[in-house]
Amino acid sequence: MSLDKYKEKRNFQISPEPSGKPHSGASSKRHLLYVIQKHRASQLHYDFRLEFRGVLLSWAVPKGPSLDPSVKRLAMQVEDHPLEYGNFEGVIPEGEYGGGTVMVWDAGEWVPESANVEAALEKGDLKFTLQGKKLQGSWVLVRTRGFGSKPDKSWLLIKHRDKYASDKDITVSQPRSVLSKRLLAEIARDNDGDIERAATGDPEKAKKRKVAKPGKSPMNKKRAKR
Ligand code: MN
Repeated sequence: MSLDKYKEKRNFQISPEPSGKPHSGASSKRHLLYVIQKHRASQLHYDFRLEFRGVLLSWAVPKGPSLDPSVKRLAMQVEDHPLEYGNFEGVIPEGEYGGGTVMVWDAGEWVPESANVEAALEKGDLKFTLQGKKLQGSWVLVRTRGFGSKPDKSWLLIKHRDKYASDKDITVSQPRSVLSKRLLAEIARDNDGDIERAATGDPEKAKKRKVAKPGKSPMNKKRAKR
């Protein structure tokens, strides 16, 4: 588990995302973080993340999770993210990797159902229980054969049949952040306000950033690109 790819892709002088660090001894902890971030980049998608060995294993799910056990949602595995990323909500400047708005759509804990998580990941069949604010019950991630050039990165996220299964579209019925209760558009708009206050030279108001990293000035951001 390494954050090298995560760090390679980002410029932390420009992006408010956490630079993060791997945490040790995570596998002996009782509670493992689970988070889904709704991310409007070039395409809207949901980033599904499970803590394992001190980092967040991450999959980009274009259509988001479905509570319907008959629906299989494509989940492309992406680079491991730092645990600190689980609290990140805000705007990644345009032109940066993943540029766009990020919301913490769901968060909680996950419990492996597979006895050996590492072996399950290797095999491509990870069963687990989610204890989030929105998603609960039993799920599975199954590696699938081939979409495009990275077949080993293609997985399917599927709800198991249990009392939490449903045919309602939870991405539609529960669109707001579990951190701030905001919609994506509201997160984007709040960020715009911060940049405008900074640009008008009112440092007190500019400091009132709701979520992004405190102490990092938004003054450096290029307004022309927006
Ligand atoms: Mn993303």
